[in-house]
Amino acid sequence: MFPSIISPIFQHSRGTSMKQTPGDENYAELREGVRALCRQFDGAYWQKVDEARGYPDEFVQALTRAGWLSALIPEQYGGSGLSVTEASIVLEEISRSGAFAGAVHGQMYVMGCVLRHASEEQKRSYLPRIASGELRMQSMAVTEPAAGTDTTKLRTVAAKKGNRYVINGQKVFISRVRHSDLLLLLARTTPIDRVAKKSEGLSVFIVDLREAVGKGLTVKPIRNMANQETNELFFDNLEIPAVNLVGEEGKGLRYILDGLNAERILIAAECVGDGYWFIDKATAYAKDRVVFDRPIGQNQGIQFPIARAYANVQAADLMRYKAAALFDAGKPCGAEANMSLLLGANASWEAANACLQTHGGYGFAAEYSIERKFRETRLYQVAPISTNLILSYIGEHVLGMPRSF
Ligand SMILES: Cc1cc2nc3c(=O)[nH]c(=O)nc-3n(C[C@H](O)[C@H](O)[C@H](O)COP(=O)(O)OP(=O)(O)OC[C@H]3O[C@@H](n4cnc5c(N)ncnc54)[C@H](O)[C@@H]3O)c2cc1C
Repeated sequence: MFPSIISPIFQHSRGTSMKQTPGDENYAELREGVRALCRQFDGAYWQKVDEARGYPDEFVQALTRAGWLSALIPEQYGGSGLSVTEASIVLEEISRSGAFAGAVHGQMYVMGCVLRHASEEQKRSYLPRIASGELRMQSMAVTEPAAGTDTTKLRTVAAKKGNRYVINGQKVFISRVRHSDLLLLLARTTPIDRVAKKSEGLSVFIVDLREAVGKGLTVKPIRNMANQETNELFFDNLEIPAVNLVGEEGKGLRYILDGLNAERILIAAECVGDGYWFIDKATAYAKDRVVFDRPIGQNQGIQFPIARAYANVQAADLMRYKAAALFDAGKPCGAEANMSLLLGANASWEAANACLQTHGGYGFAAEYSIERKFRETRLYQVAPISTNLILSYIGEHVLGMPRSF
């Protein structure tokens, strides 16, 4: 006979018993602040959002009000002016609470491109309103169906016409567009056969979605495994003001790549948070669940996968801190940022598998949140960048092996 899924015997198995992690001692206050907010949004809240394929609006608003999503906006523009290390802890704690950080992380880092490359006028116009929550800028449109990972081959074009740019093309898997006011768009402004290097001739634009949707921009939602609000975008002669160009025409790919180290580190921290969440759940359940008259955790076949995953999450956590410290010191951190995401994505996925297996059938019951987090953390093997491409970066750019593309 199966025990009732809501049996009180298992209720306390679902509580977390958080272990000390490498950065805990330095950021206890920050961690506790984020944890306190996240406690208001429990597993039932996230289950409801997931089942409705909805968006966690109340959660995003609460984070915005508390100032966590403006972590990386400098104080002079109304933000909290935190370091990448601190911002990564915010996202780690969000994931570790059982929430889905993928629904909110864009608001934290997409504006980085504006911060680093936009004119002072653009910064003053957008950043304070993003920091206050008046404007949401949490979408960045790079991926295209034909180009895939080979970004230089993207086909969306922006043609200058007087004081406007006219945009035509298509994007795919562009997240949070239906919950964003502004979109950062990467489009080609000079044809690939007229540039010296294929990475040149691409430009970044700020698209005001409130004006664009229905007037040259069509948004088609993509139903997907992780309840990520993600979409196809169709640009059909969309006109935007020329002043919405960010920085110099033709340098857009460099601007986007500039922001990727921060993105990699922040998402690595989310993976670390997921990893600890899975390990806390698995450990608690392994201690409680009695089969063959003893806790299942007494069997090394149950213990070892959880212990191994824990070791790997800790290793990923350390690489995250190393990468973030280099970033905050203004030092090169491409290798560490990429490795932190690779290790984080692998470790959280390993922990997810161990946790699901430890829970047996109950791992598949939505009420336990494990199957939801399992789907969510799987995403980081593919997006924002596939782990294959990180391996390729390490092989070619760090270890100097021959280029494969
Ligand atoms: C839920 C979700 C949200 C997303 N959100 C955004 C977003 O907001 N903005 C955005 O711009 N994009 C977004 N993406 C897109 C994401 O970044 C891409 O899906 C990802 O970079 C992989 O590109 P692709 O799907 O075109 O795969 P492809 O390029 O078609 O590759 C398919 C597979 O082949 C592998 N591969 C390709 N070439 C090589 C090679 N040379 N060596 C080894 N392996 C290779 C890839 O690693 C991948 O595993 C999102 C994707 C998803 C699923």
